[in-house]
Amino acid sequence: MSIAPYAADFADRHIGVTASADIERMLAQLGFPSVEALVDAAVPADIRVDRPLDLPAPLSEQGALARLREMADRNVLKTQMIGQGFSGTITPPIVLRKVLENPAWYTAYTPYQPEISQGRLEALLNFQTMVSDLTALPIANASLLDESSAAAEAVLLMRRANRAQGSAKTVVDANLFPQTIAVIRGRAEALGFEVEVADLSRGLPEGDMSGIVLQQPGDDGAVVDHTAIIAAAKERGAMVTVVADLLALTLITPPGEQGADIAVGNTQRFGVPLFFGGPHAAYMAIRAGLERSMPGRLVGVSKDDAGTPAYRLALQTREQHIRREKATSNICTAQALLAITASMYAVYHGPEGLKAIAERTHAHARTLAAALTAAGIELARSEFFDTVVARVPGRAERVIADAEAAGINLRRIDADTVGVSTDETTTAEIIATVAGVFGASVAETVAEGDYGFAPGLVRESDYLTHPIFHSVRSETQMLRYLRRLSGRDLALDRTMIPLGSCTMKLNSTAEMEAISWPEFAGIHPYAPEHQTAGWRELIADLEGRLVEITGYAGISLQPNAGSQGEYAGLLAIRGYHRGNGDAQRDVCLIPASAHGTNAASAVLAGMRVVVVKNTDAGAIDLDDLDAKIAEHRDALAAIMITYPSTYGLYDVDVREVCDRVHAAGGQVYIDGANMNALVGLAKPGEFGGDVSHLNLHKTFAIPHGGGGPGVGPVAVAEHLLPHLPGDPTGSAVAASSGTGDTVAVRDGIPVVATLFGSAGVLPISWAYIAMLGADGLTRATRHALLGANYIASRLRDHFPVLFTGESGLVAHECILDLRELTAKTGVTAEDVAKRLIDFGFHAPTLAFPVAGTLMVEPTESEDLGELERFIEAMIAIRREIDQVAAGDFPLLESPLRRAPHTAAAVVSSDWDRPYPVEQAAFPVPSLRVDKYFPPVGRIDGAHGDRNLVCSCPAPEAFEG
Ligand SMILES: *Cc1c(COP(=O)(O)O)cnc(C)c1O
Repeated sequence: MSIAPYAADFADRHIGVTASADIERMLAQLGFPSVEALVDAAVPADIRVDRPLDLPAPLSEQGALARLREMADRNVLKTQMIGQGFSGTITPPIVLRKVLENPAWYTAYTPYQPEISQGRLEALLNFQTMVSDLTALPIANASLLDESSAAAEAVLLMRRANRAQGSAKTVVDANLFPQTIAVIRGRAEALGFEVEVADLSRGLPEGDMSGIVLQQPGDDGAVVDHTAIIAAAKERGAMVTVVADLLALTLITPPGEQGADIAVGNTQRFGVPLFFGGPHAAYMAIRAGLERSMPGRLVGVSKDDAGTPAYRLALQTREQHIRREKATSNICTAQALLAITASMYAVYHGPEGLKAIAERTHAHARTLAAALTAAGIELARSEFFDTVVARVPGRAERVIADAEAAGINLRRIDADTVGVSTDETTTAEIIATVAGVFGASVAETVAEGDYGFAPGLVRESDYLTHPIFHSVRSETQMLRYLRRLSGRDLALDRTMIPLGSCTMKLNSTAEMEAISWPEFAGIHPYAPEHQTAGWRELIADLEGRLVEITGYAGISLQPNAGSQGEYAGLLAIRGYHRGNGDAQRDVCLIPASAHGTNAASAVLAGMRVVVVKNTDAGAIDLDDLDAKIAEHRDALAAIMITYPSTYGLYDVDVREVCDRVHAAGGQVYIDGANMNALVGLAKPGEFGGDVSHLNLHKTFAIPHGGGGPGVGPVAVAEHLLPHLPGDPTGSAVAASSGTGDTVAVRDGIPVVATLFGSAGVLPISWAYIAMLGADGLTRATRHALLGANYIASRLRDHFPVLFTGESGLVAHECILDLRELTAKTGVTAEDVAKRLIDFGFHAPTLAFPVAGTLMVEPTESEDLGELERFIEAMIAIRREIDQVAAGDFPLLESPLRRAPHTAAAVVSSDWDRPYPVEQAAFPVPSLRVDKYFPPVGRIDGAHGDRNLVCSCPAPEAFEG
């Protein structure tokens, strides 16, 4: 069957404003004859590229899907029994279609505006409750980036929280997965602290320790009673982290009951596809008292202005936005969508269902173990949950090859040892086949519910007792629960989300489609290379395109968020200086305007942060730069600049800044999160950068997922290539899949558990680039500038635009300055953000990078009608500010301060506010038809932090 070429260019679908009349209207407002002329005026000439991007011709949606299908078909799908932290699982179809593939969930932003995020906050609170129950630790966060980096975060948390011995070594049990040990070692190397890997089954080593890390079950599958070693560690003043498998914890005594302070792990096997390694939500649970040192997002319960319980992010003052280099971690984007998926898996199955899955998984493993033992094969451990490790001297390759021929992947541990891990998808036939390849046969089947580990280790405590894990059983209930939650939220499927610096553009359906194809989603990250040719082709091709777009020499897709790209990029700089014998170079210059992750990442990479001033016009202050360079000349490692800057400006001096830092021996890190203002126009690798990270979940169309997943590839110039992140398992070799699509493997410090990080979502960015092509990508950038400048120009008379370049233009975003109005009337930027909810809008970025302002980034995907709707709302809000100024109503009783208005508030029969109820609910006429009511009114943040509740509250809390 041949596919008819689709007539319309995909760029015309991706870009919102395409009608020439609309473009002309916008240009007339701005006083330019063409979009090109606008761009020429806005972007400094000395950074512009002089040739179009060298990319393959654009594909139609059908063409891109056909290419993706070809690549998918080059992957070989097997039954995955490799284990090692990644298990087969069944995503309930309703969760796949109604969450993972549903734009109402995947296009949402991180819930910083809690009133329009109650649905996803509830789902994330369910996640926290699930983790907290299963680990038996009272507080759990709403996801970390992956298991290995979560373990590294736990190590750092123990060092922060252990007052007496925080600077002492960390002891890691040798029975952790090798990838986790590698990531922990990498963090330790960067920060210069000691990690000792020891066999803790023989007791604790000598010396002071800040903490120890154990794993349950272990790398060799062992289920071990950790009570004694935990008690011994605490006796010696060390803290304890256990890396634990949540499914195993439905049967095994949880870490919290054995005395652990912290538990971390992966929730992938709760219904999230293998995705060739990610994205998956990692978790962290802690004992009480550690919450202020915990990394990552924490959902808490507070109340709104009517006293109704309401969810919000708690203790945000720990995070890098506020704490910068003193933050508890650099994590910003996490894994919200995957955490929501895992939580819905638990809601769907309930505790009985999860336990039944665990018992079945365990019984299959025991059946296999019995068959192997009967055949005289020695097992490494007799007490295990789902992983049987068999000794087959000299025969491992043979057994694994035979299993592969039978359609099953097993784990090669070494030449004499094979691992087999069972999971939710395992069947009796699969066990019989596996037994067969070992030369054994199944004589008797172990009954479910009969446990093969010490009775003292069998879990007795309840879990998932909250009604939410019992009340949603039928598919109809589940369908409505998911709809009810998503209906409470504003995502891109309802409104533009004009968040500056976040680039909330279209995530097209064709881009999304391939990610759940089994030939992509069902591949284990440690599957043999000859089974992953399609993945490698896609990855190599995407790498090549991103290298062309950025002007660097090479790129690593391993970092699974922008923050991790920063960390990896700074580690590359660190490695380079060390390689040159310049280990003393540890100062990282960071402008005051930078994103909080920059400073937090620099600290994690072992650098000292020195702040460089910005001028009043928003540029980097060259005099201050010179002073800081002079002061730190011999210690200068790097400068981290965002381009265009976080002020939405193309700093005209950027080449000069790069030259001065280079002249002093420093490296230039260009934060590429704002790449949406550069693609096709300028390349950071050509105007002075040595390294940049990109945010594929901003510029390259991966959806934000309500707070993740993300991909933060790190691109570098030639001299930094050897320092790109390496393979955390240490086993990969550069592999050609036969068509020249070679993926290079480097030797730098790995940052997450798998070579390609969140590979599973890379088809989205691949499709985005493939469908837009060089011309479409460049047009998208131009239109991002057009939209932002149009908004700035239309709103300028109502709200001052904080920074503009010498041309009077902004880049792809603009900052609306409320400070003068606030001084005059008391109306704050936050009031405006909350009032926008009543107009059905998600607020722009609030208070970043300048307190008291709103940063607006419309992106190229918004049409003129939507831009006008936003402008109309902002002008109406400005009129209300004037009403406050004129004394029409007092600030505290104004529609601004009382915003947002719930349905309950406006239908109340005792409406007694000094403004009409119609103005509250329908401030512009179009809202009479299409109205979003937030489920709660303005939320009291301080109350939630004072009274921390981070698991599902009792249902009575919501009554009355
Ligand atoms: C979004 C952003 C980051 C952080 O990216 P995450 O993926 O959230 O970690 C860093 N710098 C800038 C300028 C950003 O806008």
